[in-house]
Amino acid sequence: MNARILVVEDEAPLTELLRYNLAAEGYEVETAARGDDADTMLKEATPDLVVLDWMLPGLSGIELCRRLRARPETRSLPIIMLTARGEESERVRGLATGADDYIVKPFSVPELLARIRALLRRANPERLASVLAVGDIELDREKKRVSRAGHPVELGPTEYRLLEFLMERPGRVFTREQLLDGVWGSDIYIDERTVDVHVGRMRKSLNRGYTNDPIRTVRGAGYALDDRYGKAD
Ligand code: CA
Repeated sequence: MNARILVVEDEAPLTELLRYNLAAEGYEVETAARGDDADTMLKEATPDLVVLDWMLPGLSGIELCRRLRARPETRSLPIIMLTARGEESERVRGLATGADDYIVKPFSVPELLARIRALLRRANPERLASVLAVGDIELDREKKRVSRAGHPVELGPTEYRLLEFLMERPGRVFTREQLLDGVWGSDIYIDERTVDVHVGRMRKSLNRGYTNDPIRTVRGAGYALDDRYGKAD
């Protein structure tokens, strides 16, 4: 599953440069040229990382960063701030506001890519693991095999990708739309009820012979893989 990165930058040539280079690295890239537009986008779906310019029309990067940190869904969202040279005091303020890292313009693209990789690794070590494990469920990405309590679980390709997506982010609640974007891709149209069908199949396969259900249905919100299931309260 490729990491999704939102680039918030009002200088169009820089946005395009970043979009091109991030896509070439295999990331899924979204862009916004205004702070208020980015704020709206981030309320609808949470990417894996945000590259956020300091000076933006609509809403400043610093204010957006502050708002993101105030919301539970984006409290730990990795943020790299872009600042102009000579904004020393502002840089310090940027980190104080909750950005994870900052980089000074003009910067080299390889350096930004290295910072992004480091931050993603730190934020989500599961992303790079070849075997994911949550509770008694194991997913081996190299062998493309899933087991529960050591017994193989048969899953169709879509159910496998769905489980992989949820296991990379245990505990996090995803809307049907976010699951569609993350598992099926954002450029194809599929009815959101399709998600329910595949979650149902995945659940049935995982739970065959077991009584505790690791998949949590959050009424009115979506689904999550329970990161506490199987643990004593
Ligand atoms: Ca700017």
